[in-house]
Amino acid sequence: MFGKKVKTFPQGGIHPEDKKFSDHKQIVDLPLPATVYIPCSQHIGAPAVPVVQPGDKVLVGQLIAQRQGFISANVHSSVSGTVKKMVELPDPEGWKKPSFEIEVSGDEWLDGIDRSPELNMDITATPDEIRAKVTAAGIVGLGGATFPADIKLSIPPGKSAEFLIINGVECEPYLTSDHRLMLEKAEEIIVGIRIALKALGLKKALVGVEANTPDAIEQLKKFSNPYPEIEIVALKVWYPQGGERQLVKALTNREIPPPPRGLPIDVGCVVFNVATCFSIYEAVQKNKPLIDRVVTVTGDSVKDPSNFRVRIGTPIRALIDAAGGLPEDTAKVIRGSVMMGKAIPDISIPITKGAGGIVIIPENEAKRKQKQVCIRCAKCVSVCPLGMEPYLLMTLVEQGRLDEAELEKITNCCECGCCSFTCPSNRPLLDYIRYGKASVLQRMKARQQK
Ligand code: SF4
Ligand code: SF4
Repeated sequence: MFGKKVKTFPQGGIHPEDKKFSDHKQIVDLPLPATVYIPCSQHIGAPAVPVVQPGDKVLVGQLIAQRQGFISANVHSSVSGTVKKMVELPDPEGWKKPSFEIEVSGDEWLDGIDRSPELNMDITATPDEIRAKVTAAGIVGLGGATFPADIKLSIPPGKSAEFLIINGVECEPYLTSDHRLMLEKAEEIIVGIRIALKALGLKKALVGVEANTPDAIEQLKKFSNPYPEIEIVALKVWYPQGGERQLVKALTNREIPPPPRGLPIDVGCVVFNVATCFSIYEAVQKNKPLIDRVVTVTGDSVKDPSNFRVRIGTPIRALIDAAGGLPEDTAKVIRGSVMMGKAIPDISIPITKGAGGIVIIPENEAKRKQKQVCIRCAKCVSVCPLGMEPYLLMTLVEQGRLDEAELEKITNCCECGCCSFTCPSNRPLLDYIRYGKASVLQRMKARQQK
């Protein structure tokens, strides 16, 4: 279909089984729950500060927690109702964070939010007004990174940018929320991309989409046709193609400097996910804060794998119920995706801005195979997209040799999991590397504070 060879990144990678059970399922609105739980911290950076108290009545779209400091994001009520109390809920990393418990009484929206389905294509806001609207709306990276979007819409002093890179790659197995959004909201996404181009003063956007979603590519091409500054590029179906580093390399042949300091802007790129572009459209053209998102609920035993538009703060249990209930053979529930997501301790915790998927893993899939000795096959090395030596990193962490792990740059690991996925000896490489990386980062931080 695409004639020439599709682009990709040059080193490592794998192709896990797709299992996109919900890719044909239209996005449907999940009914409002009886109670929502909205954390003050759903983003990278400082938690937002509550501006409403228990007992206060709130409307949909009302600011309930105000951003503080440079890296932070506003939080809004996703329902109308009464703030009952503040509760502590575990975030995706398991840390307890203050959250609003709001009893839902209806669906009354704040004045000024345009809820009409009409497409608004005329971008009249100036770059400063765009940034102000995105800040006010609490938009963060919806691909999972949750970095505040307004910061990325300003080029930092001393840097320059050439390309806006749009991530339409959903390379993780199971997930289909971005695919559906590209199919159903392609026009809005294209307007969102034009808004971001205007705010950044850039002349070129490259939209990377995996070649196994030709319908999404077709839609985006159709609606971007009048705008030569937007190019839709089919990419090889290869994991982790959606990683920022791999995406930038595939689309521009530029290499982001190694982490922890290297950023896309260092090679003249600014990266946004397609769902973030859709939210930018809603914030700027419709005045709508980030109060909902599309979430895939899926798994091998799930009765009705689905894509839902969900109000932020909805308990995950409500999504699972709507997809046919928790299967009897459930071993674990993952928030995010199977390769990079994490198992959650409790399905009563809420959907937050960064959660694009809930994947339910059955017992037969979850069972870990017996760990064997390393046979020095180097398969883990060959699939690592960053050219690291996972077998060595695991050994160093296992033996407590963290100084050497630091010298081997364990902190560069992007936690893609390609190494563990490939190891014929079932060695839990990523578990050890993740632990070692966190320990080394802690030591580095402690050194800086001395
Ligand atoms: S998890 Fe880390 S070490 Fe393993 S393949 Fe990915 S980047 Fe390499
Ligand atoms: S893939 Fe597994 S067995 Fe092969 S070298 Fe790596 S750790 Fe050892």
